[in-house]
Amino acid sequence: MTEHQQFPKLIDRYGRQVTYVRMSITDRCDFRCVYCMDEEMTFMPRQQLLTLEEIVFVLKAFAELGVEKIRITGGEPLVRHNVSWLFSEVGKLKATTGLRELTVTSNGSQLAKYANDMVEAGVDRINISLDSLKADRFKEMTRIGDLNTVLSGIESAKQAGFKRIKLNAVIMKGRNEDEIVDLARFAVEHDIDISYIEEMPLGNVTHQRHESYCSSDEVLATLKNHFQLETSTTNTGGPSRYYQVIGTNSKIGFISPHSHNFCESCNRVRVTTEGRLLLCLGQEHSVDLREIVRKYPGDVNKLKQAMVDSMQIKPKGHDFNLQEQPIIFRHMSVTGG
Ligand code: SAM
Ligand code: SF4
Repeated sequence: MTEHQQFPKLIDRYGRQVTYVRMSITDRCDFRCVYCMDEEMTFMPRQQLLTLEEIVFVLKAFAELGVEKIRITGGEPLVRHNVSWLFSEVGKLKATTGLRELTVTSNGSQLAKYANDMVEAGVDRINISLDSLKADRFKEMTRIGDLNTVLSGIESAKQAGFKRIKLNAVIMKGRNEDEIVDLARFAVEHDIDISYIEEMPLGNVTHQRHESYCSSDEVLATLKNHFQLETSTTNTGGPSRYYQVIGTNSKIGFISPHSHNFCESCNRVRVTTEGRLLLCLGQEHSVDLREIVRKYPGDVNKLKQAMVDSMQIKPKGHDFNLQEQPIIFRHMSVTGG
């Protein structure tokens, strides 16, 4: 047993405190969404992934350094073997550390099976990706996914009693921009929230990103023709800007890395499937946490020191450019969206 040292909070050179960690627990997925993956993907050998025990060890250290919110993502997190055990171990950190919120991002395909376990384990909120309500288009955009399975997954999530459910929709010109309003209506009818995401140039895909790019401002303008929207002060700890749909319980959010740079207030870091601590989604600055965890097993002080030191290399901001592609060779599934 190592003695527990005192460490400062995670504050970077620009005075931003890191209170939010996104952890990708697998690069594998049962879908191949066109904006996220290639049709043919080579996934990492399993021994390169952090084990579930290592993931819990890393997340506990973060929570003890002042992280208040953890998002488990992937790839598709629910395809990782024994994921329910992971949720319950991380859920327990809410009782022993300053962790306040445990959230998950999922494509919804396995929710009918896992939603109840997740709520029981302490998962507070869930984001479910939904880019189309048309079965054939849904299949085209995900290359594999079945719309009805995901709709049942959303229903299971509602029944299970998460504190909040939010849909995520990536809007692409020529693909699904004609469904902007229908997706919002679906969210309102189901009493849930929805965020529209601008496509990010992460990893090589088969289309030209700048041709499919649809700005949040265009999406917002379309929505304003159909809904009464009021700027909301809600801040979920992420980069979304929110609007309340007047007369409903639903909020509409926008994640706009291109048109509205959110770096100034960045409070987050990511851990990749291989245990690389990424200090910015759009840059390569990173620290290999897996190396530390495997070289000094059980030594939480070594790990925490590396986390505190990493604050010195957190970049000021990202630098996405749709005309050059890709600037970052990692797919979103490795980084954790
Ligand atoms: N598989 C889960 C899912 O789809 O929700 C979790 C991982 S996925 C990488 C997380 C989010 O990232 C999803 O909402 C997805 O739509 C989004 N995403 C993936 N690739 C993206 C890209 N290149 N640009 C913008 N969003 C992307
Ligand atoms: Fe899988 Fe999510 Fe990427 Fe789609 S966005 S391929 S569901 S990881």
